[in-house]
Amino acid sequence: MPSQTSTFLDSSTALEHLKAYPRFDGLSVKELMDSQVHGGLTYNDFLLLPGKIDFPAGVVNTESRITRNVTLKTPFLSSPMDTVTEGEMAIALALLGGIGVIHHNQTAENQAAMVRAVKRHENGFITDPVVLSPTNSVEDVLDIKARLGFCGIPITDTGKLGGKLVGIVTSRDIQFRGPATPLTEVMVTNLVTAPQGITLPEANDILRDSKKGKLPIVDKGGCLVSLLARSDLLKNQSYPLASKNPVTKQLYAAAAIGTRPADRDRLNLLVEAGLDVVVLDSSQGNSTFQIEMLQWIKATHPKLDVIAGNVVTREQAASLIAAGADGLRVGMGSGSICITQEVMAVGRPQATAVYAVAEFANKFGVPVVADGGISNVGHIVKALALGAGAVMMGGLLAGTEEAPGEYFYHEGKRVKAYRGMGSLEAMEQGRPGGTITKVRGSATGSNKYPYPKKVETLENAATQRYFSENSAVKVAQGVSGDVQDKGSIKAFVPYLYAGLQHSFQDVGVRNVAELRKGVESGSVRFEMRTASAQVEGGVHGLNSYTKRLFSG
Ligand code: IMP
Repeated sequence: MPSQTSTFLDSSTALEHLKAYPRFDGLSVKELMDSQVHGGLTYNDFLLLPGKIDFPAGVVNTESRITRNVTLKTPFLSSPMDTVTEGEMAIALALLGGIGVIHHNQTAENQAAMVRAVKRHENGFITDPVVLSPTNSVEDVLDIKARLGFCGIPITDTGKLGGKLVGIVTSRDIQFRGPATPLTEVMVTNLVTAPQGITLPEANDILRDSKKGKLPIVDKGGCLVSLLARSDLLKNQSYPLASKNPVTKQLYAAAAIGTRPADRDRLNLLVEAGLDVVVLDSSQGNSTFQIEMLQWIKATHPKLDVIAGNVVTREQAASLIAAGADGLRVGMGSGSICITQEVMAVGRPQATAVYAVAEFANKFGVPVVADGGISNVGHIVKALALGAGAVMMGGLLAGTEEAPGEYFYHEGKRVKAYRGMGSLEAMEQGRPGGTITKVRGSATGSNKYPYPKKVETLENAATQRYFSENSAVKVAQGVSGDVQDKGSIKAFVPYLYAGLQHSFQDVGVRNVAELRKGVESGSVRFEMRTASAQVEGGVHGLNSYTKRLFSG
């Protein structure tokens, strides 16, 4: 009797056998995205199948285009929402290789000040330091100390940045002095300074050796251009992935505007402040307002890259591409705070929307930003696999230190407010009451930017975004809530980046171009997930567990 093993094929021929009978596992992207078979899909409905690993995750390059002319090293954008992106988020995300889109639910002047702060940011250098004049008094220093918590303050002849540096005041200089004493009597005039253009490591060395608390940086004429603080010495990391304009070497700045006539004036201010990318913010981008705005921008500011949207169909995309869009924002109803699909019954499941639009737009060299519904690293990989150049995140970045607003406690958890721009709360007021409280007045500190003392004009971008500025009854398309404290994006975004590199490694691709090529040629494969497969793919069967996502 023949042995049982003799009926099996010889193992050494396994690879040849595979070639001889080329039947791939799983589905090609076209098969996956056949909506007549599967309906509209969301990110959770499918997985990518693993490929072959023959390289370390660290070599994976996630560089990708978000517009015709702007490439990012990490494909992350933060949403233009008033609980997600202001100056601080935009600076931090740009340092980490992404780009933050500054919201427009605020006055044009405020928004422009934030754009300026991004453009002026030099890592490690305080480019908007608090400055006083010799005629200010000890009381002014005490006031700054009480409000901002520091008191190493440079003194210039004009009391402003750019004035001639004449002294510096520290807490020791004002001890035992009466509040009315003018600073000219107490300030130190024997100064250690560094010249403009000095590198951060060089300036750090001077600061360390001089044993001073602050190092003023001055231009050739002795005028103050920035400041370095000893307290920041340890925090002055380098950011090799930083998103910079290749010509000016400044951080990239992006901001959102609406499509009404007043938005043209707003955009002029933003461009003056150094804007690189503008996002036309609308929940339904295929409108005559947006097409006219796009045409006006292309004629007036031809160097500015425009991301138009939002769209979810090829037809919508075609209108905006024809009108000159340099990038498209895709998503309608997929956001974590969104009730558009529920109330309007209009929208599209996000994975299907991203695939449909990207497949069309990429033919014209117009990248797609997959906006909304990103709640983990896997969703980012899936969006890129479906053709997106980058993802835009709201909820995932809300709750970080860099998001606007203060932390508060809700049911014992430390949280920050996060609300949809189509929530009644956002539509009814220009800014969230009390949640955005940064430094006010002209005095500013590290990573802060000046706001006027009181925000008077509340141009409501939220109503515009949802076409309801003239409606007697406002119909909500979003909710208002809170999200848990996520710490700083300086830890969180590197986690997203490293997670993405590991995922690419599993798929067997080294960069976005390889991923896209693999998907298009059918060598990168997908599999649908049934409801029970989704349960299996999550943690299950444990009595209790802790879910720690990253360390480092
Ligand atoms: P998330 O990342 O899932 O939280 O979604 C953020 C995205 O939701 C934003 O970038 C917007 O496109 C979208 N969005 C913001 N506010 C609203 C709203 O009130 N209703 C519907 N969608 C919204």
